Amino acid sequence: VENYDVDTDKGNRLLIVLNPKSGPGKSREIFENEVKPVLMEADIPYDLYITRARNDARNYIKTSNVLKWKRGIVTIGGDGVLYEVVNGIMERTDWKHVTKSIPLAIIPGGSGNGLAKSLSFCSGEPYDHNPVLISTLNIIKGFPIPVDLVRIETQSEVAFSFLSFGWGLIADIDIESERLRIIGSPRFMIWTVARLIGLRTYTGRLSFLRVPAEKVKEVVASDKYVEVQIQDSYLMEEENDKKSTNHVDCNSNSSFDMDSISLDTGCIRGEPDQVGRTESFYSLSSHKSAYHSDNASSSYLSLPETAKKSRTTIYGPKSQLPSLNKPIPKSWEVYQGEFVMVHATYQSHLSGEVYFAPDCKPNDGIIWLLVAKAGISRVNLLQFLLGLSNGTHLRCPFVEMIPVFAFRLEPLCEGSHIVVDGEVLPHSSIIQAEIFPGIVSLLNK
Ligand code: ADP
Ligand code: MG
Repeated sequence: VENYDVDTDKGNRLLIVLNPKSGPGKSREIFENEVKPVLMEADIPYDLYITRARNDARNYIKTSNVLKWKRGIVTIGGDGVLYEVVNGIMERTDWKHVTKSIPLAIIPGGSGNGLAKSLSFCSGEPYDHNPVLISTLNIIKGFPIPVDLVRIETQSEVAFSFLSFGWGLIADIDIESERLRIIGSPRFMIWTVARLIGLRTYTGRLSFLRVPAEKVKEVVASDKYVEVQIQDSYLMEEENDKKSTNHVDCNSNSSFDMDSISLDTGCIRGEPDQVGRTESFYSLSSHKSAYHSDNASSSYLSLPETAKKSRTTIYGPKSQLPSLNKPIPKSWEVYQGEFVMVHATYQSHLSGEVYFAPDCKPNDGIIWLLVAKAGISRVNLLQFLLGLSNGTHLRCPFVEMIPVFAFRLEPLCEGSHIVVDGEVLPHSSIIQAEIFPGIVSLLNK
């Protein structure tokens, strides 16, 4: 652990979390040669933490007095080390205060640098020219933007994701190509070709809550960060299942009214706080928002005992979805059958080279769910994979990009990895995901 002090202001330091094993293992050199000189030139005090093993960053962030790093927590490595930092924060009881007070940032040093690329892309920066310098300068400028997180729940865990969820072809390429880690990004392409030759399909059931088309259009056209309001009426809470009047009863034929979900593109209600955050997140749900609302009419303490004991309250924002063992509302769309992949993202780029969701912005409140059904030919799949670099992959038959607020996936076969932000999750026969708009801040231009 190394420190650089320029003053005694312990409250305004930067924490740098460095994964020496990311990508081609160059993070230390990147820091020494390209980041440190810039920080010293700008007189920015920092603490450096070098990870020693997997989950080290997560535990460190979970247990440290992080509030001394108000200037920000920066990771150097791939998306995986930031994923650990984010989840370390969300496991803290004070996660709400921490996400509000401390911006995050990422300096690309891994083989998958999807978030760094996506953030520069949305602000029109020449990232490819010098990714490390561009990202370092964003930290110096210190301008935070709100970024969506997706809460992913499996039978064994809850994870918060800022980049992607994958099952099927691309997830398998991502993980199986680990053995080619040493060669950096091209590993993806080499393994892709191998996978294409041995193409397989996966049986599953995918259910999702689609974002209405006119709302998507509004969001895509808007330059502003988008405030999303999801009314809680489309979801159920365990404690309300029996007596619910406001909630959809999945056992009846009552259908869910799409109009009850509103995407408010009017945006930015109230002034941004010191890290540029607005109240948007806190308006995500109405009366059930007390767990994460400073302004909610009911306070945390006044919630019924049953609600406090609900399965999700100990771990970050409370889920608005039905629990995993309950059916989803009847009005959700369902695809059942054979898939080549189900791959969701909430950023434009999965990596420096993969332009996966061209319409996606860091805080559009939308999960962009790509579904490739079985039946796609190898030629079309090759066209798909080649099109990933410029966004033309979406023109392929059997490939559909669906904007959703939430989805549930039930893999009905063994075999594919479940991958979140490039990290493998243990197999689960049911997984669900929901978006929490703009709940973290990332330093960007
Ligand atoms: P890449 O882009 O190459 O995947 P990441 O930063 O995403 O790089 O990290 C890859 C994996 O390395 C993650 O699972 C992370 O938890 C793990 N990790 C972090 N620090 C270490 C370490 N010191 N030794 C080994 N693995 C580590
Ligand atoms: Mg990774």
